[in-house]
Amino acid sequence: MAGVSAPAAAPAGVAVIAVGSELLTLGRADTNSPHIVAAMQRHGLAVRFTTVVGDDLADLTDAVRHALARADLVVCTGGLGPTDDDRTRDVAAAVLGLPMQEDAGVLAGIRERFGRRGLTMPDINRRQAQVPAGAAVVPNERGTAPGLWIPAGDRAMLLLPGPPREMVPMLEDALSTHVTPRWGGGLIRQRALVVAGRSESWVDERAQPIYAPWRDEPLPIATTILASLGTVELHLSCHGGDAGALTHRLDAAAAALAAALGDDVVNDDGRSLERTVGELLAARGWRVALAESCTGGLVTTRLTDVAGSSAWVDRAVVSYSNAAKVDALGVPDALLATHGAVSEPVATAMAEGVRARAGVDVAVAITGIAGPGGGSEEKPVGLVCFAVTGGRGTVVRTSRFTGDRHVVRSLAATTALDLLRRYVRASDAR
Ligand code: ATP
Ligand code: MG
Repeated sequence: MAGVSAPAAAPAGVAVIAVGSELLTLGRADTNSPHIVAAMQRHGLAVRFTTVVGDDLADLTDAVRHALARADLVVCTGGLGPTDDDRTRDVAAAVLGLPMQEDAGVLAGIRERFGRRGLTMPDINRRQAQVPAGAAVVPNERGTAPGLWIPAGDRAMLLLPGPPREMVPMLEDALSTHVTPRWGGGLIRQRALVVAGRSESWVDERAQPIYAPWRDEPLPIATTILASLGTVELHLSCHGGDAGALTHRLDAAAAALAAALGDDVVNDDGRSLERTVGELLAARGWRVALAESCTGGLVTTRLTDVAGSSAWVDRAVVSYSNAAKVDALGVPDALLATHGAVSEPVATAMAEGVRARAGVDVAVAITGIAGPGGGSEEKPVGLVCFAVTGGRGTVVRTSRFTGDRHVVRSLAATTALDLLRRYVRASDAR
């Protein structure tokens, strides 16, 4: 039905098509689609899928047909230029069965744009003044290609140019002028619970019984579980009309999950692990020092990626060799000889050594075998020892990670950050 203005019960479905053969080559990434996805989400519209398609007529026609069959709103970017390989306008009109007409106002605007630069409009630019019947023009302040809003029954297409600096302001304009009056009214709110030190299946086993009923309750919550190296994120998404009700609903949901998952929950607002650790340290006025071996400074890099980290990071020693562990950290030779560099006693000595030298509240040490070489039967590749030391003594831990060198080092860095997080948090209980 045309002209529906009541807010839809479910978020309107959107498909995004990025048009341009250059987007299928290395070095020309489609940045418009993620931008459009985020903008739609802010306005309560759900993007079902995005497609990148080259300038080929048949491919583009198929992509537009498919998108129109599956989505309420199809947003295209690119291919509105004056040249023969710019076909988005023609394809949209053809698929929708709309005749095109030259729009005198648009033509005058393009002519004037050239005129302002002392140029005469080339004839090929007339193509950019073609407007499908029933379409509205979305003005382009920064280029010649106007955008088009094309309503078609209960669906619509929005055509925007490819250059991001033109597309971005025009998208905002089209959203407020055309899209939200028709499909707006709904809001989408999201929340991400970050969990560390557990596998995806461990998290899912505990979380699934809690979130399964949410799908069928009023203000349903959709959930996604995402695993990355060393952390698992639970994403919650809720759609409705009232921002306060959505926030309240997500607060309660996050609290229920946090209660079930306990200390493994890093935060319930999607912040990174390193930022969370930094903020925990800052809240106590604590400073940290690090002694890194197999991670080669990765933990320090992640901690100092956080703006403001000079308030809580004191120093780091990358003590790769045994000699460095002795010289820079005061690890006793005898300890290295007896236990080997990858051992809990050496990790402890590294952490205590750097803490004593820095005079800080807490210190972390990591020593392990990243591989692919250097492993033995007794100490295989992936074996990593950790120590965290501070006012309430030293906590040690040995993990055995599987994966290539990059994976082992990343997992070791995440584990070190998480052990530090747990140490700082547990210190409050005393
Ligand atoms: P217009 O519709 O304004 O004519 P066009 O696609 O016809 O755009 P192109 O010459 O193909 O014009 O692209 C113009 C610039 O915009 C190029 O630098 C191109 O890489 C960039 N661009 C096009 N599409 C995208 C996209 N989806 N994401 C990021 N950049 C893009
Ligand atoms: Mg193009």
